[in-house]
Amino acid sequence: MERIGIYGGTFNPPHIGHMQAAKEAIAALGLSHLLVIPDRIAPHKEIPQGSPTPQQRLEMLSLAASDCPRMEISDIELNREGVSYTYQTIQELKSIYPDAELVLLMGTDMFLSFHTWRNPEIILKNASLGVFYRGEKGEAAAIEARKAEMEQQGATVYLVKNPVVNISSTQMRRLLAFRCAGEFLPEGVLDYIREHHLYDTRAPWKNLPMEQLEQVVIRLLNPNRVAHVLGCRDTAVKLAEHWGADVTDAARAGILHDITKAIDGPLQLTLCDAYGKLLSDFSKRYPKTLHALTGSLVAERIFGENKAVVDAIESHTTGKANMNTLEKIIYLADYIEPNRTIPGVEELRRLSYTDLDAAMKLGLEMTLEHLNRQGAEVSPESREALAWLDSAK
Ligand code: FE
Ligand code: FE
Repeated sequence: MERIGIYGGTFNPPHIGHMQAAKEAIAALGLSHLLVIPDRIAPHKEIPQGSPTPQQRLEMLSLAASDCPRMEISDIELNREGVSYTYQTIQELKSIYPDAELVLLMGTDMFLSFHTWRNPEIILKNASLGVFYRGEKGEAAAIEARKAEMEQQGATVYLVKNPVVNISSTQMRRLLAFRCAGEFLPEGVLDYIREHHLYDTRAPWKNLPMEQLEQVVIRLLNPNRVAHVLGCRDTAVKLAEHWGADVTDAARAGILHDITKAIDGPLQLTLCDAYGKLLSDFSKRYPKTLHALTGSLVAERIFGENKAVVDAIESHTTGKANMNTLEKIIYLADYIEPNRTIPGVEELRRLSYTDLDAAMKLGLEMTLEHLNRQGAEVSPESREALAWLDSAK
């Protein structure tokens, strides 16, 4: 019997993770072909600026799949009016391919919540399930158990081991905005994206007026970080006024300081790679701390910020020796902005307005203590900063 795979998703944009998974499924399950079906994005959902039209998603998918003759792109869901459910798609496909075995592909999260879908029994009557799993600890047991349970009730479930690039489309869109998504996109797709000015890949973001800068930054942050970033900007401005530093630089560094914070640890390394930065051993061990470096690179190259702003962003997490006033201000504003509730922050707030160096020293010591408690390493930059503050006394 002919076996046909069904692979749905928003594919916004289609990336190599999708394509590798698709090829893996074709090989592992011996699929005669694979239907790739982009979802309709509900019209009530807020669509971010630079988003592709449904037609453009189809075209990108066709480009992505161009080296794989067994992949076929289907507009079956895009053409449906109103809410679209998977069971409807499966029924429709079953009527087109009555003699084939349909295999509906999905990730582990989807599989584990499958019973909550609309009419799962109709899906199982008309199709088998193909579950991508990465074989991580803890994951396997839950999946095996669910598979056994479903098979007892007559379903067919295949597991497809997929050691693949695990990258979300949201992350992908951020990398595109930072112009470093190339290695994750199938040949042709990146060119298409650039040509059609999608996903901010060609947005003119150099020297934006403050208000526009803020809007762009907010779009690129995780929503739960926005309050912190705005708080940091306001605090940086107050400190700059108090200590006679450049208020505009303080505001811009404050708003941009965590611009790459939403990029996952391993992808921080990608950013550094794309921007040609060699990394210290410490940052390879602690890629999360890299957001300060990558943030400064993005501030410089994507937003065209001046050196003072760029340097202040770079040292905001660890500090460093010989910090200037703006650098101290950004380091401290990040620490004391109104949303911070860390023990000891009140004293740090007070010191920040009376003795910048003493505040820096206290901030660094608090970080050191915190890292020690966690058994984490202290960065060489922080040690150098403390040594410098001690010697200056
Ligand atoms: Fe930060
Ligand atoms: Fe921060």
